[in-house]
Amino acid sequence: RAKELGRNNFQFFTAAMNARVKEQLQLETDLRRAVQRQEFILHFQPKVSCSHGGITGFEALLRWQHPVRGLVSPMEFIPLLEETGLIVPVGTWVLQQACQQAAAWHLAGHGQLTVAVNLSARQLQSEALVQDVRQALEDSGLPPQALELELTESLLMSHVEDNIALLNRLKAMGVQLSVDDFGTGYSSLAYLKRLPLDTVKVDRAFVQDITADPGDASITRAVITMAHNLRLKVVAEGVETEGQIALLVANHCDEMQGYYFSRPVPAPEALALLDKGRVLPGRLRARGAQVP
Ligand code: C2E
Ligand code: MG
Ligand code: MG
Ligand code: MG
Repeated sequence: RAKELGRNNFQFFTAAMNARVKEQLQLETDLRRAVQRQEFILHFQPKVSCSHGGITGFEALLRWQHPVRGLVSPMEFIPLLEETGLIVPVGTWVLQQACQQAAAWHLAGHGQLTVAVNLSARQLQSEALVQDVRQALEDSGLPPQALELELTESLLMSHVEDNIALLNRLKAMGVQLSVDDFGTGYSSLAYLKRLPLDTVKVDRAFVQDITADPGDASITRAVITMAHNLRLKVVAEGVETEGQIALLVANHCDEMQGYYFSRPVPAPEALALLDKGRVLPGRLRARGAQVP
């Protein structure tokens, strides 16, 4: 009897596993098709200057418009793109698209804007990365310093020695390099100093509670101070409230990004945000942020 039960459980277990595996395989098939059918699109989220409140640039964030499921979150499909290696061709497309878009903004009179592209592990290991970046800049005519590459802290730290050479090659092309999701890994800024970085993006997890948790507030303050000492620019991620803005501005953070200002939006809406002008709350602007 016990044996029978065990067997039933096992069958149940395998049935559930099969369903998962099937679902995963289906998603994988869909992803391969998505590449051919061009179901990917970029959304753009603004970065806002803490000193003048204007938009300094946009981060390109990948979206998948699935014919049945609708808009699929990158959290779901990026890991799968990584596993299958499809991230390499898709990543090439993202670089091309982002640079074309930024070049168009420049032509439309917003010549100071930057565009940021996220890179993943496989792309860093790919021989083609440096050539892809060069090609995207060349095809679009975008000046290299207008392109920012975001690499997560954990990614940077996982193969520091290999990364130093690669980042130096990218840096030599004139692009900007950022550490993304800073604070979620186990590195210190001093360690990251060995890498040719321009910007630190403080992870949303810290920014979230800075107005409620004195610990998170002092960590954020310390990161800002230390980053400035190392001549790095600081961007705060996931800014959602005026309280957070006030605290970040008071602590000399350089730029902010988050739903307070805008969610990631399609390119035409991004252009509309630009035309709207400064997006810092009025009372902060009034309180001495100098307007250029
Ligand atoms: P990330 O680079 O750290 O991007 C920030 C994520 O936080 C985005 O999620 C953005 O929509 C979200 N976010 C921004 N502001 C707020 C806020 O105020 N509150 C909250 N709750 N969330 C906010 P998204 O677009 O879902 O992207 C998730 C991650 O997927 C990205 O994290 C990035 O690591 C990865 N990713 C996105 N696009 C690409 C890509 O083209 N290539 C690669 N390799 N990775 C990408
Ligand atoms: Mg990012
Ligand atoms: Mg981030
Ligand atoms: Mg993050």
